Amino acid sequence: MGGVCIVATALEGTLARTSLELVGGARALQPLGLQTSAALLGHGPGLAGAVAELHRHGVGIVYRCHHPLLSAGQSDAVLVALQPVVARAQPQVLLVAADTVGREVAPRLAARLRAALATECVQVGAADGAIVARRQVYGGRALATLVVRDYPAVLSVKPHALDVPTAAPVEGRMEDVEVSIDAEALPARVRQVLREQAELGLEEAQVVIGGGRGLGGPEGFALLRELAQLMGGAVGASRPPTDAGWVPASWQIGQTGKTIRPALYIAVGISGATQHIAGVSGSRTIVAINRDPEAPIFSVAHLGIVGDYREVVPALIARVKELKGV
Ligand SMILES: Cc1cc2nc3c(=O)[nH]c(=O)nc-3n(C[C@H](O)[C@H](O)[C@H](O)COP(=O)(O)OP(=O)(O)OC[C@H]3O[C@@H](n4cnc5c(N)ncnc54)[C@H](O)[C@@H]3O)c2cc1C
Repeated sequence: MGGVCIVATALEGTLARTSLELVGGARALQPLGLQTSAALLGHGPGLAGAVAELHRHGVGIVYRCHHPLLSAGQSDAVLVALQPVVARAQPQVLLVAADTVGREVAPRLAARLRAALATECVQVGAADGAIVARRQVYGGRALATLVVRDYPAVLSVKPHALDVPTAAPVEGRMEDVEVSIDAEALPARVRQVLREQAELGLEEAQVVIGGGRGLGGPEGFALLRELAQLMGGAVGASRPPTDAGWVPASWQIGQTGKTIRPALYIAVGISGATQHIAGVSGSRTIVAINRDPEAPIFSVAHLGIVGDYREVVPALIARVKELKGV
């Protein structure tokens, strides 16, 4: 009873990377003397593997919630499933990934539990017997420090803001939680889940090519996709192309979009606004392609190419093809 409970998800049989990042967050709270448990939500035979993965990373009790609607991006279903887990585990702290579903779930969960709430955290830790969390404010220009002393507390953590912790196996146990969800009673229903090819790997990809307003329209993204495919990477975007509907909203990288930490990020036709940089600053190497030598992106990039992307990107594609012999 008590402790930190992370809300873990296993879609298509694999434990989400963000769930392991939450385990890292729970580990950072260990100075408070809180044990870690997990509510594992999902469907299908892969759940057993996900339980083992959680134990391997030091999670003691895994409350397994098994239901087809838990794989469908349904926040209402997630709230229903978490109810019996919370009743059984009575956690002091709940850690939720601030992904599409988690962004909806965290505040509603906090309201139901009359809990303290800190959303979109990028750091989680403990000091002087309290939870200390940090979140970006003023468009990513500053970090606000939140000190949480009241329990229960719900914290949502931005995907990829925390590292996946090293393995620390424990002899854990799994408890099945009966989940009874009346699909007809849910206020919203997911009819179809569409997956964009490039969306699949954006947060996991080791190479990400981001396109900005400088591409001038959706056609420019075809070139980026060709380069990304050759390099085994994914394509993302700054906010203007997603706002304009050139690419899906889920491709947006930045403060209000996804946080990425690839080995290589290539920003094409992106000026380098702080709100965009907030989502890419964890990239190991940043390369910028921009025709304006004064663009702010060059001050954060490790390598810069000044030029029109319509000349630079085809030249890169040709060179990569040559190197790969294709
Ligand atoms: C609350 C808030 C949240 C936000 N969240 C986000 C977020 O999550 N992510 C995000 O990205 N933005 C976000 N923004 C928007 C952000 O402030 C910027 O407006 C946005 O990042 C700019 O996008 P951009 O660099 O693609 O476009 P621009 O700033 O218009 O830059 C286009 C660049 O392309 C270059 N260019 C033009 N033509 C070419 C060419 N042919 N070849 C090469 N280069 C060329 C130009 O020199 C220029 O530098 C947010 C804003 C607010 C207020």
